[in-house]
Amino acid sequence: DSKDKDKFEGTWRLFKLAVPLDQDPGKDFIVISDPLLQEIAKALKFPVASLLPREAFTIVRKSFDARKKLKAPKFVHTVDMDVKKLLSLEPRTWDFISRLEPKVGLVEHVLDRRDFGDLMSIIRDCKENKESVVKGENRHSISRKPKIAVVGSGPSGLFASLVLAEFGADVTLIERGQAVEKRGRDIGALVVRRILELESNFCFGEGGAGTWSDGKLVTRIGRNSGSVLAVMRSLVEFGAPKQILIDGKPHLGTDRLVPLLRNFRQHLQELGVTIKFGTRVDDLVLKDGHVVGVTVSESSDRLRSSSQKMEYDAVVLAVGHSARDIYEMLLSHNLALIPKDFAVGLRIEHPQELINSLQYSELASEVCRGRGKVPVADYKVANYIDKEEFYGSSVSGLANRSCYSFCMCPGGQVVLTSTNPSEMCVNGMSFSRRASRWANAALVVTVTKKDFEALNYHGPLAGVEFQREFERRAAIMGGGNFTVPVQTATDFLENKLSVTSVPPSSYRLGVKAANLHQLFPTHITEALQHSLLSFDRELPGFISNEALLHGVETRTSSPIQIPRDVDSYESTSLKGLYPVGEGAGYAGGIISAAVDGMHAGFAVAKRFSLFHGDL
Ligand code: FAD
Repeated sequence: DSKDKDKFEGTWRLFKLAVPLDQDPGKDFIVISDPLLQEIAKALKFPVASLLPREAFTIVRKSFDARKKLKAPKFVHTVDMDVKKLLSLEPRTWDFISRLEPKVGLVEHVLDRRDFGDLMSIIRDCKENKESVVKGENRHSISRKPKIAVVGSGPSGLFASLVLAEFGADVTLIERGQAVEKRGRDIGALVVRRILELESNFCFGEGGAGTWSDGKLVTRIGRNSGSVLAVMRSLVEFGAPKQILIDGKPHLGTDRLVPLLRNFRQHLQELGVTIKFGTRVDDLVLKDGHVVGVTVSESSDRLRSSSQKMEYDAVVLAVGHSARDIYEMLLSHNLALIPKDFAVGLRIEHPQELINSLQYSELASEVCRGRGKVPVADYKVANYIDKEEFYGSSVSGLANRSCYSFCMCPGGQVVLTSTNPSEMCVNGMSFSRRASRWANAALVVTVTKKDFEALNYHGPLAGVEFQREFERRAAIMGGGNFTVPVQTATDFLENKLSVTSVPPSSYRLGVKAANLHQLFPTHITEALQHSLLSFDRELPGFISNEALLHGVETRTSSPIQIPRDVDSYESTSLKGLYPVGEGAGYAGGIISAAVDGMHAGFAVAKRFSLFHGDL
């Protein structure tokens, strides 16, 4: 009856709908194919799949599954079913869906499903809410538009600027690096002519650290949360393919990120945002314990001789964790900074074909360098060390550490992420097709305050000094000129120099054989050795003469956190300052940084009464 039917209105979510690889229609992620329709019919126990109207179903996730224990590789789907639409188009389904019971992991009634997708519509709702609230609640009422400086155009700064500008704030986005067009040329000069532009490189410039990256959009903060969806849909608005909304492991690649950022910039400018590239914030201007502005200089001005004061009502600090000068500046104002645990290690590179065959066996031949249906293989490995004794030695400090792969780039290349020529650190990037011959990933070991103190680094910036220590050692071991010290995984295990056997590397500025045992304290080296053996048990062949370790990977996440209020996002030790994103210790990766910036944008907008109420 109709009451019962009401109960079934809304959306039901169907999980684990598997379509074998050879029956998948290809890269068109949105189409409900015949084999998928049959799986849906099976889940509903509906006898005639072809009678089901495709319009009532939407694919929300599609992941490739080629685990070795499976008989055949498959694509696994999650599909949303619009019950009202289904019943109106095929009333005979009622007998079947009325018997559906929500079962964990297979079928679930998605209650009160609000379409969070569109960030602009959330902002519109908030603005409408403003009209209906009683006046007098304003905490920070000013008669003109609030003037907000957003420092840093990485994912967190961009999304903070977007939200604030949509709410009508007068936003200036200040970026020490260059716009993507010029930044691309600077990175080209680095790779070809070894010229490191100190302010325009793999870490600094439009889009932040995530632009010349692999552009992985996976996140640990909840893929289906409204905030993540809002960010992902905004990326689609700015030119990312719709597929990122569905793909189990979405990624963009540098070639897609660059035009996307250009569109983002254009949209911000249309909203009236002033964007200042090549402009570095050197200091904060304080008055009565409040931030009232910033001093800036052209980033080419190393002496900061012609600095200029600019007044703002609030400053959103979205500088990333390579802006070590900013940490020092904050400390000079006695701002609370808390050292944070992070991880350091090496970047390992294998031939991509080897990883494909480790992960896919015979299927590896179908990878076709990113052109086929089978995605270029990746991996994720982790090892927890709970005892001190390995290799017959007992190295104090080895226990209770994790070693794990991080920021794995299939079909990518190892790149230089130093921001100073006397320091050496690396990371990985790729293009959208992930077509290169190499697969690289960081293998890192967790480090804590105890490790910093063991090297005599104390105080709020101990972690930064700890990073620097190994970056300097790596630069020296490489012999300068951005040459990276390397050792094969086999030689690293045996503690011997890779003299004759250095395999080729994707790193364009040259590699030099070195004994990477001389880089880290023994307990970190042994943690890496032990974990390599464990990874090789999981993926036999992971240790080989073709696996090349590159030194050093230090900038995995921020070494400090800047305490802030949970609701207002304002620094707990300085009014008017809003620390956000990875550099402030609240994000790790493109999506989480963007989400943090977006939330901060709402918090600041609320603070200046650009909207009221809750989200
Ligand atoms: P950032 O992106 O670091 O942006 C900070 C910005 O602030 C920079 O543009 C910088 O120039 C600017 N800035 C700094 N100081 C000042 C100042 N004084 N004045 C003005 N401007 C300033 N994450 C993923 O999720 N997926 C990946 O595939 C991935 N790959 C990566 C590959 C590489 C090579 C690197 C380096 C990082 C990668 N990451 C990846 C990490 C990701 O890029 C970061 O987590 C993310 O960009 C952090 O965003 P953010 O906005 O907090 O800071």
